[in-house]
Amino acid sequence: MAAMFEQLGLIGCGLMGGSFAMAMKRAGLVKRVVGYSKSPSTTERARQMGVIDVEAPSALLAVSGADVVLLAVPVAATEATFKAIRHLVTANMLVMDVGSTKRDVVDAARRVLRDHVGSFVPSHPIAGKEVSGVEHADPDLYQGRQVILTPVDKTQPAHLKRAQELWEALGCQVQQMTPESHDAAFAAVSHLPHLLAFALMHGIVHQPQGKEFLGLGGPGFKDFTRIAASDPKMWRDVLLANRLELVEQAKIFQRSLANMLQMAEEGNGEKLEEMIAEASLVRSHWRMGQKAK
Ligand code: NAP
Repeated sequence: MAAMFEQLGLIGCGLMGGSFAMAMKRAGLVKRVVGYSKSPSTTERARQMGVIDVEAPSALLAVSGADVVLLAVPVAATEATFKAIRHLVTANMLVMDVGSTKRDVVDAARRVLRDHVGSFVPSHPIAGKEVSGVEHADPDLYQGRQVILTPVDKTQPAHLKRAQELWEALGCQVQQMTPESHDAAFAAVSHLPHLLAFALMHGIVHQPQGKEFLGLGGPGFKDFTRIAASDPKMWRDVLLANRLELVEQAKIFQRSLANMLQMAEEGNGEKLEEMIAEASLVRSHWRMGQKAK
């Protein structure tokens, strides 16, 4: 099979970007990867690991000659990255990102790419790890995962189709949403759960006996708090970028929490059990029949 692309310009050679480059090369979808990362040491490490073929000294030079470009930088660095590359973005080039939030990314693309915003297909692979950096890059990271594409009115249909084909060729299931509905949904199922996990750990460790309590945590605690070990800077950016939807979801959660606490305080076992039973039923049917993820 002929490679789908000649050259990938990778900006941000970390966990997500490095994994993408490895998966693209392994699937034979691209011939050459030119990478750039903020720290030259990261770019060098990515080349030594064989994740990229060529180190570029700037984001602009990573894009030069590429027919597909991936931004895999923290979401707060998206606008500056678009500014750095915009002079070399062409109508034929497919540009994508992997950012966890989409409204801010799409707004930055509109502001900066202007006439070439049609080349940009905003993407969010629902894949990842709580460790970051190129040393954790994994060509299987995207296999079997969902990818949400959030095209806007100016997105070129041909680019959207190629983006969909590319992610599918990496073993992903692709769906489309608006950037707004994406951010509302992921505030509920990703951003708020991360905030809760961080807040829970914080609350425990700041108690006088917090360390002792932590030593007693079992498998439930381990499952609930796994995501609290995630990268602080990445999550700071995500929580800030989607703060409006996050606050909405937090209000809904606070109502639920207050309700359940009230049942407990009043000793209302019947009502408390009803609420737990509903949650338990929904959780046990969640993704039934799908591969465990
Ligand atoms: P990561 O492993 O830390 O990689 C990010 C890379 O981008 C690093 O190499 C970093 O710095 C580089 N970088 C930072 N600012 C830059 C800039 N201005 N220009 C060029 N490179 C820059 O993080 P990641 O987990 O891959 O996250 C990347 C993106 O994926 C984020 O937008 C995140 O929201 C999204 N995402 C992450 C997950 C996850 O579970 N991790 C899941 C879905 C989506 P150095 O070059 O200094 O190393």
